[in-house]
Amino acid sequence: MTDIKTNHTKLTIIGTGMAGMAAACFASYNRIDTIQIGVNSGMIYSSGFFDLMGIHPIDTQLSWNNPWQAIDQLVADMPNHPYARLRKSEIETAMNQFLEFMEAADRPYMFNKNQNTEVITPVGTVKRTYAVPLSMWAGAVALKERHSCLIVDFVGLKAFSAKQIADMLTPRWPKIRPLRLSFPAVGASADLYPEQMARALEVEANRIKLADAIRPYLGDAKSLGLPAILGIYKPRQVRNHLEELLGVNIFEIPTIPPSVPGIRLKEALEVFLAGRGVRLIPQKRILFAKRQKNGKFVLSVGDHGSDETEQIIETDGVILAGGRFLGMGLYAGRKQIQEPLFDLPVFQPGDRAYWHQSNFFDTKGHQISQAGLEIDHSFRPTDLKGKPVYDNLFAAGSILAHQDWMRQKCGAGLAIATAYGAVKAFKKRL
Ligand SMILES: Cc1cc2nc3c(=O)[nH]c(=O)nc-3n(C[C@H](O)[C@H](O)[C@H](O)COP(=O)(O)OP(=O)(O)OC[C@H]3O[C@@H](n4cnc5c(N)ncnc54)[C@H](O)[C@@H]3O)c2cc1C
Repeated sequence: MTDIKTNHTKLTIIGTGMAGMAAACFASYNRIDTIQIGVNSGMIYSSGFFDLMGIHPIDTQLSWNNPWQAIDQLVADMPNHPYARLRKSEIETAMNQFLEFMEAADRPYMFNKNQNTEVITPVGTVKRTYAVPLSMWAGAVALKERHSCLIVDFVGLKAFSAKQIADMLTPRWPKIRPLRLSFPAVGASADLYPEQMARALEVEANRIKLADAIRPYLGDAKSLGLPAILGIYKPRQVRNHLEELLGVNIFEIPTIPPSVPGIRLKEALEVFLAGRGVRLIPQKRILFAKRQKNGKFVLSVGDHGSDETEQIIETDGVILAGGRFLGMGLYAGRKQIQEPLFDLPVFQPGDRAYWHQSNFFDTKGHQISQAGLEIDHSFRPTDLKGKPVYDNLFAAGSILAHQDWMRQKCGAGLAIATAYGAVKAFKKRL
């Protein structure tokens, strides 16, 4: 019989999505001995923008310029929303600290303290977000100033059309022009994928070829918009070099998922956290969780779809950042929604018939998008009477109830702020 390795730790973070990563950053900042575990998350699909609070109420689609005023109104109207578990100053500290981590991880973000910024989406619409990757910031500036701008797409790159983006934006931005080129670094007839193009542009010779292909068409353009393909590991150097070669400001526009900015975020945070002593168990899941008499949790680690325990974690506390259905933190069965690991009560509509509205595009959203774990003010999942189920189990991110991050445009903000709250509550117990 093989011996199964047992890892001992103070804190285990279940999840490597935005909430899990943010929790790991805050834990390492607080010097808490931490193990993190998870498989691929929503992060690799994310545009890279950090939304804090954009839309409230959902049914009227009211879009807010000032995210902090939006949070005030949201908390007044929805006292069960996870943001209501934090003071506004704590949400601000969480965002500021996380943006400092991003700077330290060499993935800087730009933002206006009290104002959302308008940015261009992959389909050419404009949305408001809070923090913008440096590589996309010149696009927000160009959109605001409406100066002369060239947008380029590439033959073979699916679902990214410079013409569509220009057509959508021309009414408010007449000096925007589209251009389609063959991507010079790969075969002409190949289907192109953003990750493959980003890797190609890490090579200097390919950047020179790309600049040579674009230069004849620049005309009076003051800035140049490209799909988000400007390198995975060295995005700053890739963009700086192209700017030097072409003499204009260059910005990225997100592509449809999986997205290069999301992959960059994941890679950079993994390196950053490893450097700060967080022990990551990558591409594995917690299969079973059990609480011992001494209060510690014993977690079995293995592969998805397997019952075989490969290693064990014995931990003083857990932050569950397992996401909703995509992350598999929640499971939608035939009759009800379950939390599969700790069998925690899940807030949900009384009957499956109420999960979705009959109109999929109903502006009110769907009741299933408010399902999740209810928590107390210390981010501990509660039972039906509002009592914490375990004093050393905390939850953060999209697994929480009473929020619809996608429609409210608060995905990253909610993940970061609740991760901050959960780590702070865990630390108090030490
Ligand atoms: C297509 C798309 C676009 C987005 N765009 C934006 C955007 O523009 N702006 C923005 O702010 N946000 C955006 N987001 C949202 C954001 O990236 C996060 O997905 C969201 O905030 C939820 O993060 P999370 O960490 O709570 O959950 P998830 O990202 O779902 O992560 C859950 C994690 O838990 C792990 N897990 C679950 N169960 C277990 C288990 N038993 N054992 C181990 N690990 C487990 C999963 O493997 C995964 O790592 C986007 C998301 C998607 C999907």
